[in-house]
Amino acid sequence: MPLDPVEQTRQIKAASDIVAVVGAYLSLKPAGPTFKALCPFHNDSRPSLDIDPRRQRYRCWSCSAHGDVFTFVQHMEKVGFKEARNLLAAKAGISLDEVTTPQDQARSRLLDVVRWAEQKYQECLLESPAAESARRYLGARKLSGKTVRDFGLGFAPLEGDWLTHLATAEGVPLELLQEVGLVAPRAEGRGFYDRFRDRVMFPIRDVQRRPIGFGGRILPESPLLPRAPKYYNSAETPLFSKSDVLYGLDHARQAAANAGYLALVEGYTDVMMAHQCGVPQVVAAMGTALNARHVRQVCRYVHKVVLVYDADKAGQIASDKGLEQFLPYNEIEVAIATLPPGLDPCDLLVSPGGVEIFTRALATAVDALDFSLDRLFAENPNPSVEATRRIVDKILSRIALAPMARSTAFQVKVELTVTRLAHRLGLRQETVWARLGELRKEQQEQERKQAARNAANESGYDPDEPAEEPRGEPTQKPRAGQAATMERQLVELLLAEPTLVSSAAKVVDIEQISHTGLRRILKEMYALDSAGQVADVDAVRECLRDRPDLADVALRLQDVGQFMQDREEWLGRIVKGFARLQLDDEQRAMKEQLATAGDGDAAMDLLRRMQKAGRPAKV
Ligand SMILES: [Zn+2]
Repeated sequence: MPLDPVEQTRQIKAASDIVAVVGAYLSLKPAGPTFKALCPFHNDSRPSLDIDPRRQRYRCWSCSAHGDVFTFVQHMEKVGFKEARNLLAAKAGISLDEVTTPQDQARSRLLDVVRWAEQKYQECLLESPAAESARRYLGARKLSGKTVRDFGLGFAPLEGDWLTHLATAEGVPLELLQEVGLVAPRAEGRGFYDRFRDRVMFPIRDVQRRPIGFGGRILPESPLLPRAPKYYNSAETPLFSKSDVLYGLDHARQAAANAGYLALVEGYTDVMMAHQCGVPQVVAAMGTALNARHVRQVCRYVHKVVLVYDADKAGQIASDKGLEQFLPYNEIEVAIATLPPGLDPCDLLVSPGGVEIFTRALATAVDALDFSLDRLFAENPNPSVEATRRIVDKILSRIALAPMARSTAFQVKVELTVTRLAHRLGLRQETVWARLGELRKEQQEQERKQAARNAANESGYDPDEPAEEPRGEPTQKPRAGQAATMERQLVELLLAEPTLVSSAAKVVDIEQISHTGLRRILKEMYALDSAGQVADVDAVRECLRDRPDLADVALRLQDVGQFMQDREEWLGRIVKGFARLQLDDEQRAMKEQLATAGDGDAAMDLLRRMQKAGRPAKV
């Protein structure tokens, strides 16, 4: 008989030591009974991540990232609980019986349909006479058959119902194809049409190389060209968000780790051609500006990124936002590689001697700060007072973005930059340092405010949406102070000691918990317990698949609960507290009624009930 999922989760957890799991990603230093590492979840400058083998937990003392083996893998791999569980199971050599939730099923249906379409487009490109012009186009771009196959390229023919027909014939639901953005319903309301026509299809894959979406490039001689965009992406789905994806990362990540950097270019074909020419550490953003999510992905694999631009475009990046994205990240170095003007990497690579020029450009990429400085000086050979001020602030504010305690190499770079600025602009170095100090202070003040906001969110345990409040009931105000503390302590305690859940369920009613998040967790625990299962954090997590945020909270609560001694006594105190609170609530309600009760009889009746409720009424 297959194990139930919770049992499997426990088994995987038991087989996955936190030190080994975290150690596979980060370098750990022993520190007494625990281990320390640079925290990958914030700009860490001294090791603030604590890995505790006794409790099988990690915690960052700076950004409060915390959790167990599952959450760690979830955050590192940017995957859900299910995938993290699968990854850890595979590592531990545990084979899983497929257990799926509705969300997993929806996700895997989307994955299946994207994979199906990828295959169809690919077959079409490789075999169909209709794809002749596409094959010619790729040939003209000098992409080899191997590269085309490696990247899974395909072709969507010109007729408007090619994919729709295939899907119907093979029983693939058109609604799913619509969901991933490959077909759309006809305006007349009957049937569907293909959204991609006469386009070379570039499958976009996640780092596990599963296709999650497509980019389509229209053929240069296409009759549709005048009224269709050159590039086009499939829909944003739970699988695919174009602002998250770096095209080619599945191919590049290993090579990047070896090369020590990842190069960023602009186009799909640039990525493929670089790969074909033996420079595989190259990726492209999906036609969007670089953002923090890209940066976090890059930081996971390398400590250096090289932004590749042709000489014309390189001018623009003196003011490029993308560059600034990288600066606040600890230990990531940004450099700019400049290619000859007018050539994109693909053109350059196929030209004679191009591979050498390209690899030399990567190898001699200029540090981004130096690059900006050179540009600014070139643009302002004799700067006015105002221009001087602007140049100084532009450069220094970038430096100020970087955490103070970055590597010594970075400190050296800062010193050199300050010296250069002062020398070139005829300023005293002290003046430049002073200005840098001011800008850093401003930056730190901003970061401090942000941290305070984060901390406020953290301590409130408040991932609740108001929508979760039971409908039709007046919204209860979260109880203040003591009550909120008790609710939290109860859940902390029970998560640490699931054997006490039965006793708690007898005396603390779920409706007494006013915090909707805590109530949901407790409700799941009661339900598990009454079904005769162990209501521990792993079981609760299974029940909270729809609320990964709450699953995180549960872990944190259990973590705190583990420090509670004499748990039965604790429970007794909490239960008494709840009883007292309930009494207070009842009395308050009666007092309010009394205050508004019009006639004497009703008032007397209420008074009697209040006295009966246990305490002399103080009216
Ligand atoms: Zn941290």
